[in-house]
Amino acid sequence: MYEPFPELIKVSTDHKYDGIVEAEVGATVLDVDNECKKYGFFFPPDPASARVATVGGALAENAGGMRGARYGVMRDWVLKVEVVLSDGTVTYFGESTYKNRAGYDLLGLIVGSEGTLAVITKAWLKIMPLPERIVRIAGFFNTLDDAGEAIFRIRREGINPLILEFADKQGVEAANKVKGFSYPELPGGMVLVDVDGPKNGVDSVAQRVVKIMEETHAATIIKPETPAEMERIMDVRRVAFTAPGRLYPGFIDGDIAVPLSRIKEALIGVDRIRKKYNVFIATVGHAGDGNLHPNIGADPNNKDEWERAEKAANEINLLAIELGGTVSAEHGIGKLKEEFLLKQFEVRGQMPVYQLMKEIKRIFDPKNILNPDKYALR
Ligand SMILES: Cc1cc2nc3c(=O)[nH]c(=O)nc-3n(C[C@H](O)[C@H](O)[C@H](O)COP(=O)(O)OP(=O)(O)OC[C@H]3O[C@@H](n4cnc5c(N)ncnc54)[C@H](O)[C@@H]3O)c2cc1C
Repeated sequence: MYEPFPELIKVSTDHKYDGIVEAEVGATVLDVDNECKKYGFFFPPDPASARVATVGGALAENAGGMRGARYGVMRDWVLKVEVVLSDGTVTYFGESTYKNRAGYDLLGLIVGSEGTLAVITKAWLKIMPLPERIVRIAGFFNTLDDAGEAIFRIRREGINPLILEFADKQGVEAANKVKGFSYPELPGGMVLVDVDGPKNGVDSVAQRVVKIMEETHAATIIKPETPAEMERIMDVRRVAFTAPGRLYPGFIDGDIAVPLSRIKEALIGVDRIRKKYNVFIATVGHAGDGNLHPNIGADPNNKDEWERAEKAANEINLLAIELGGTVSAEHGIGKLKEEFLLKQFEVRGQMPVYQLMKEIKRIFDPKNILNPDKYALR
C-alpha cells in the first residue's frame, strides 16, 4: 500500500496558543483538524472531502465547506504559504501574524489559483478554540419556496449558524436508500442547521431556529439529542452530495453561488431545469453561503441521457449568472467551466479582469508549465 512521505503530511501545533498551526501540504484538512482537536482547537474550513482533500489542494481551490456559513473559506484561514515558483525559486507569501499589510496581497492571489501560478509546499493556518456545545436542527419542507424562505430568514434574523445546509428530495431519498434511513422525502427537502456557543447559551438560539422553521411551514422538525443521532442526520446531507455518483455511472459536479436573497429562485430554477431535461439532479449545498451543488447523475454511454445532462448543467451555470451569482463557488473552474467563466466575465463587463489574469499568468509562469490547460488562460 502507498505510504506518503511522513515529512509531507506533518502538522505542527507548536504555536497553537498563538492560534496558528504549520501544515505540510500533503496533510489532509482532516489531519489538521484532528491534530488541533487534541488541544481544544479546530480548523474551521471543512470541505466534505476533508478526509482526502490535502491542505495544498484545498488552498489551490480555495475550498469551503459546511462551516463556511460562519467561517468562510480557506483564504480566510491562511496566513502564509511557502511556494515554489515556475523557475524553481522557493519563497513565501504572507506572514505568520494575524495582520499583515506588507505589499500587495499575493497570498490572496495564490489561494484559489488552481495550481496555475505556483506550487504551494507549506502553509501557516489560523485555528479557533472548539465551541462548548453544538445543537443540530433539521427541518423538512413541503415546498422549495418554504425551504428557501427558512434559509433566508435564519440568515437575515442574525442567528449566525455554524452550518446552514440544504439537501433536496432526491438527495434525501438517495441517502435513505443507501443508508437504510427513513427521513421524510418531501418536495421541499431538508434544511440542516447547527448553532454553537457556550453550554448554557445555545438552547435559546436553537429555539429561534425552530420558531423560524415553524413559521416557514416545516412539515417535520427533528432535533437529534445523541451524538449518534446527530451523525445520522448529517450523513443524509453527506450522502446526498454523492447520490448521483452512487446511482449513476456518470457525475457532473455543480457548484454555483447566488446572493442569499435569491436562493429561493435558484432552488426553484434548478428544479425547473431538472424537469425540463428529465435528468437526475440531487441539489445539496452550503445554503447559508448561497452555495448550491446541483449534482447530476447520468450514463455517459447513453448518448441521449448524457446530452440532456450536459444541457441541464450548462443551463444551471447560466441561471447562476442570471441571478447575479457565480458559476464556481468553491470547486474551481478547471477545464469544465472555462466557457462559463468567460461568459460570466462578459456579462459583468469584466473582460479587462480576464486580460489582467492572462498577464499575471505570464509573469508567474512565462513558459506555461503550471497546469497549462486550466482556467482558459492560454
Ligand atoms: C465528495 C466530495 C465532496 C467535496 N466537498 C467539498 C466541499 O464541501 N467544499 C469544497 O470546497 N470542495 C469540496 N470538494 C472538492 C475538493 O475535494 C476540494 O476542492 C479539495 O480541497 C481539493 O483538494 P485535493 O487535495 O483533492 O486537490 P486535487 O483535486 O488533487 O487538486 C485540485 C487542484 O489543485 C491543484 N493543487 C493540488 N495541490 C497543489 C499544491 N500543493 N500547490 C498548487 N496547486 C495544487 C491541482 O493541480 C488541481 O488543479 C468535494 C469533493 C468531493 C469528491
